[in-house]
Order: sequence, then C-alpha cells, then structure tokens
Amino acid sequence: MSKKFIKEIKETPVNYECDVLVAGGGTAGVVAALSAARNGANTILVERYGFLGGTMINGAGPLHSFYNLYKAFPGAEKIQVVRGLPSEIIDRLVAYGGSYGHLEQDQGGDYDSVITLIDREIFKEVILDMMIEAGVHILPYTMIADVIMDGNSVKGVIIEGKSGREAILTNVVVDTTGDADVAFKAGANCVKKHETTSVGMPFGMCNVDIKRLVAFLEENNLITQIVNVDKDIKADNVVRLGFDLKKIPVFKEFMDKDGMWGPLCITYHENECSYINSANLRAVDATDTEALSNAEIALRKQVMTLSRMLKQYIPGFEKAYVSWTPVGVGVRYTRVVECEHDMTLDEIINCARFDDEVMLYGFHDCAPRIMIKNAGYYGIPYRALLPKKIDGLLVAGRMITSDWAAHMSTRNTVSCMAQGEAVGAAAALCAKYDVNPRELDVQLLREALVDQGVFLG
Ligand SMILES: Cc1cc2nc3c(=O)[nH]c(=O)nc-3n(C[C@H](O)[C@H](O)[C@H](O)COP(=O)(O)OP(=O)(O)OC[C@H]3O[C@@H](n4cnc5c(N)ncnc54)[C@H](O)[C@@H]3O)c2cc1C
Repeated sequence: MSKKFIKEIKETPVNYECDVLVAGGGTAGVVAALSAARNGANTILVERYGFLGGTMINGAGPLHSFYNLYKAFPGAEKIQVVRGLPSEIIDRLVAYGGSYGHLEQDQGGDYDSVITLIDREIFKEVILDMMIEAGVHILPYTMIADVIMDGNSVKGVIIEGKSGREAILTNVVVDTTGDADVAFKAGANCVKKHETTSVGMPFGMCNVDIKRLVAFLEENNLITQIVNVDKDIKADNVVRLGFDLKKIPVFKEFMDKDGMWGPLCITYHENECSYINSANLRAVDATDTEALSNAEIALRKQVMTLSRMLKQYIPGFEKAYVSWTPVGVGVRYTRVVECEHDMTLDEIINCARFDDEVMLYGFHDCAPRIMIKNAGYYGIPYRALLPKKIDGLLVAGRMITSDWAAHMSTRNTVSCMAQGEAVGAAAALCAKYDVNPRELDVQLLREALVDQGVFLG
C-alpha cells in the first residue's frame, strides 16, 4: 500500500435534513425505512445500487425463516415466529403474484420446515410501492461516503451520487449497510470476521427440463432437499431442489478447489432454475477494494464454468442458458459492530429470552446439525442493535453477532428483516421524543412493535 497522502479541503452543501436516515436499502434497511416512516419519522433511505432489496434478492434464495423448526420435533406446534412488516411484505408479494407464500418442505424439513420464495423483479416493484405509500424519501444510486460527528455522536452522513458530495443531517442513523460502513467510520469498535466464512454468487438458468432433471437426480440418489408446490398454472411442481453434484467425479474436482457446494436450486418459474447457489470463495475481505474486485472476477468464472458443466453432464440442462447473475459478490460476513449485547450460540439454541427483546427468531442455518431446542425460538434484545460507545446510531442485519456459529442464525434474511423493523421503529421513537437510542424507553418500543404486528411471545 502507498504511504503517500493528499489532503482534501471541501465545502459540502447540507441538502437534506430528516428524522431518521437509513444507510443501505437491503434486507434489513428496507424494513427499517418502512418501520421508521410508518412511525411518523421523516425518513431518508440511501442505497448505492439502483434498486432496493440488497442480498435478499441478489444472493439469498429462500427466505429463512418465518417459522420454527417444527418438522424436526414430532408433535411440536407450527409457529409463525416472524410476523409484522416482513410478513406484510410477503402478503403483498403474494397479492402481486411474486410469491407462493410460505411452503412446507417435503424433504429436508429438519433443516427448515417452511421456506418462502420470492420473485426478485416483483419484489422490486412491491417494495417501491410500499416505500412511496409510507412516504420514505429514497435516494438510490447514492453511496454513503462519510459520517458527520459531534464527539461520539453521529449527526449525519456525507453522500456521493451523480450530484457530487452532499450532506444529510439527521436525529438518528440506522446502519444497514451490511459492512457497517457508517458504524466503522463513526469510530465504533468492529471486528473483521471474513476469515470464518465465504462469499458467493448465485445465478439463474432458463430452459431447464425440470422433470428430466429431477428424474436423473432421483435415479442417482443425488437429492438432498425438495419442496413441491401445487401451482394453479401448468408449471413444474418442484420449487426447491438441493442436489449433491460432488458425488459425480468431474464435478467434485472442480468444486472442491474453491469450496463450492450444492447446488441448491430454486425453480420459481416454469422451466427455470431461478437460483443456483454453489459458487463460492473462502475468506475474502469484502471491505477491501482489491479483494472484492478479485472475488468478482473469480466468482463470475465459477458461475460460467459450472453452467457449462451442467449443460454438458446433467440431463435436463442440455438446452439451458444463464438467465441471471447478481449485481455483485454475495457477502456473508465482514465487519461486526461491538454492541451492548453480542448474541451467543448458547442463547440461540437454548431459546434465551430478554426483558428488552424486540424480535423473536427460530431458524439456524446449520440445522439439523445445530438446532434451536424443541422447535423453539429466542429473543434478540434491543441492546444487540445498539453500538457501544457511539450515540445517534443503531445497527441491524449481518453486521451483528461476532461468533460465527451464532451468526449462522442471526444473519439470515428473515432475522435481518425483523431486526430492521425493530431499529426503524426505535429510531422513529428517538426522533419523536428527542432522545438518544441509548436513552429510549424499550418498553415503549416493544409496545409500538406489538401494535404493528410483531410477535413477542
Ligand atoms: C450467497 C449468499 C446466499 C445466501 N442464502 C441465503 C438463503 O438462502 N436464505 C437466507 O435467509 N439467507 C441467505 N443468505 C444470508 C442473507 O441473504 C444475508 O445475510 C442478508 O440478506 C443480509 O442482509 P443485510 O440487510 O445485513 O445486508 P444487505 O441485504 O446486503 O443490505 C446492505 C445494503 O446496503 C447497501 N450498501 C452497502 N454499503 C453501502 C454504502 N456505503 N452506501 C450506500 N449503500 C450501501 C448495499 O448495496 C445493500 O443494498 C445468503 C447470503 C449470501 C451472500
């Protein structure tokens, strides 16, 4: 790295002021912005890309999970653990034809008993409609470049877009950038966790003969997960398909090299593998410009190589073609912000509950190897979303939980959405009562969340 520096002296216009600034319009951020606006806050949502949804529509396939793991525990009650705004978004998607709702797994129910699939293009429409209805001011194509501080208190952010550099002043910033860009720049303590996991790049293929594919996989005992749906349309019945290609030698060698797995595949539309999750690279620091750029190049190569191999070796893919790749590398773990509470695996699997919990969750991504006890659920306390040391700031999404095994639960889409609902409402209440997030009456927040449909047990 160069040791040369230049000094920049800039005068930046304050072009916006708001009650709540949500940084990053991804999985947690969109729900946070809706929640803040619906609680009366004048809300701005800043997003670097030209669409909303983040990794939920660019990396994740099935949303894990609105439900508890009741299929793994005979006799357990089926419970929808995450309700409120995330559930309303799914209802809205169903109404727009963008989701089949919550589907029970036919095989692999001890991993996730119910999965929820969404159409990414319809999601983009639905979420924009909801933002406009709620009165959220959205600024896509806008990067958060810096923070405005007064001592240890965040007072706003510097954005950069096509208009250049501008300042936004606000009462509370909600950091939902995934990489903790705001918290890090504000001076919050962060730990880097990329070495414990991988980045990926799911993709889609059209013109797949799904029936032929399933028959081949069944004959060769390659299926690991399957979900069927009764669609009214004359579509393929299978919507979720896990298959272990590593049992085929030509795939094993190629996939083992970079730690590729699966694939896990979703067939949302007829003759389409709408989502194939397999491409993978270990220990990439996605907050490092060079490392992220190199990962982009390597993952795109993996995707295209795998797609050609599927065409060449796997019946059903003969006439298929790549129909979709994500906007960029799918990141699982980068910076984790040190918060007033750090969720542990013990709390998660033993269904810990907290006086200041603001959401409940009942899914762990390593099930059935690591399961939440007795199909239960645990609470995430407000403190887990409150950074130590820094005021005027709340965080949500994959930037909480420093232990990898615990993160394998809290990082999942539906948890991130529920966290977003909690911090959005909290930020709005802080603005309304002119208090710092650290001083907020959590019982007031919990009442507001229950009023908006959140299940708190
Ligand atoms: C390959 C892959 C597969 C996965 N599969 C599943 C799955 O099947 N099921 C599941 O439940 N979960 C899955 N996950 C996990 C889950 O998708 C993520 O952990 C979750 O979506 C993260 O949500 P988030 O809100 O924290 O971040 P994101 O959804 O990534 O949102 C962050 C947003 O902030 C924006 N942003 C970042 N920096 C800035 C900046 N400086 N300025 C402005 N905007 C910025 C980004 O563009 C993005 O929109 C998967 C993850 C990956 C990577």
